[in-house]
Amino acid sequence: MGLTDKPLHPFLFALYPILFLYTHNIEEVPLTATFTPFILAFVFTTILLISYRFVYSDMDKSVTMTSITIILFYSFSILTKLSDTINVFESSETKNGYMIAFSLSIALLMAYTIYKSRRDFTMITKSFNVFITTLIFLPMINIISYYATLQGTPYAGDKPVPGDKNKAFINQNDIYYIILDGYTREDILKSVYGFNNTEFIRGLEDKGFYVASKSRSNYPLTYTSLASSLNMEYINYLSEQLGTDSSNRNIPYQMIKDSNAARILKSLGYTYINLRSGWGATDHNEYADLEYSYSGFGKQDEFYSNLVKNTILQPIIEPLMAKDLSKARIYTFEKLKEIATLEGKTFTLAHIQLPHPPYLFDRWGNPIPAENREWDKSAWGEKTKYVEQLSYTNKKINETIDEILASSSTAPIIILQADHGTSPIAQTWMEDIRKVKKEQLDERIAIFNAYYLPDNGSIMLYESITPVNTFRVIFNYYFDGNFTLLEDKSFFSNNQRPYDWIIVEK
Ligand SMILES: [Zn+2]
Repeated sequence: MGLTDKPLHPFLFALYPILFLYTHNIEEVPLTATFTPFILAFVFTTILLISYRFVYSDMDKSVTMTSITIILFYSFSILTKLSDTINVFESSETKNGYMIAFSLSIALLMAYTIYKSRRDFTMITKSFNVFITTLIFLPMINIISYYATLQGTPYAGDKPVPGDKNKAFINQNDIYYIILDGYTREDILKSVYGFNNTEFIRGLEDKGFYVASKSRSNYPLTYTSLASSLNMEYINYLSEQLGTDSSNRNIPYQMIKDSNAARILKSLGYTYINLRSGWGATDHNEYADLEYSYSGFGKQDEFYSNLVKNTILQPIIEPLMAKDLSKARIYTFEKLKEIATLEGKTFTLAHIQLPHPPYLFDRWGNPIPAENREWDKSAWGEKTKYVEQLSYTNKKINETIDEILASSSTAPIIILQADHGTSPIAQTWMEDIRKVKKEQLDERIAIFNAYYLPDNGSIMLYESITPVNTFRVIFNYYFDGNFTLLEDKSFFSNNQRPYDWIIVEK
């Protein structure tokens, strides 16, 4: 009796969709994201198998039925897509209801047929084993070859630690790096969105903030922008290292998690805190000393939720996730207030996907119904919704800042910064960047950039400061660092060719 006789295929059928989805997202998703789905798949397959053993006296029959159940479980999105082509359902609820009933009927029919059958099922076990093993081979090879050819991080090496240790260790200011995704600059809000943000900006200034009114991001995408700001350097060397055709995000992701700024602060005795964002590089961070994560359905581990959305659980899970997503956003603000009360020096990285679409809130924070919040390439064009969500973001920022300032024993350092601006036309990022108009480039890189630097630290700032200099300024002023400020430059690239940059002239 060889391996092909063994009851293996249900486990492989359960693993296959996870591996398949993973290979299609390998550049954005860490391998660790697959662990929980793997464990769940293994546990549920075992439970199913044991349950069917009570129904069937025959092991091969139980194994066959287990695999059929698993295939039906994962085929839900394929079934609903197929049913879209006949388009007879009034709403997605009725469609889901019919599709669930359809899947269950097939399962029952199969279960009964197998029960009644007098055939020998050992052949089925053998052929199922051969079939799924062949199928699973391809994603396995993809994953192995991907990790085998992966290059190491390029920036490890000399980490300049600020000079005067005594001064550095005396400083007790907590540091908050709060990234407000896609928050554009005041003038663009006025000219493009017809919204006057002066009240909020003046309010921040009254609290002691310096708002850089002519700030631009150094890069136009979340991951290139943060990899640069957190490492205090231009990252154009990546186009030589990876090639301008590459869309591999691994290195910038690694640079965001294990950044130069975080390394220096850790060496100065800071606790590195990561507020999990639900998005790629700022979600789970193995280099952080402390992590906070929203634990509801809105947890928004992208890989996990994409996986679940393809299964029969989708009609139940998806509305729960959508409802919970707004709670996940608010959670970050609440945690920020809490961090201020912690003992010891903390460096907090909080990437908040606001006012970036999807649009979850109106200006008062009322949730927007799930069906109206689609996040696609035209979402930036929904100007009213953007402004509404931005207004609510302002309210949450004000509230959070007040509380942080009130409960910090030593005045904190707070950076409120966008990673990039808004997207002027649908799919700008998909287009030939050399044809994108100057004003469209300008809009994408115009950012909101505000600093609370106690003890007169604002004297180091200027209105056109870019994120690459953010931590240079902070290290120089508060930790006796010796970083020369870099010339403020901006580069543009699109999502397909993130390392193929053009310079955006001033
Ligand atoms: Zn972004």
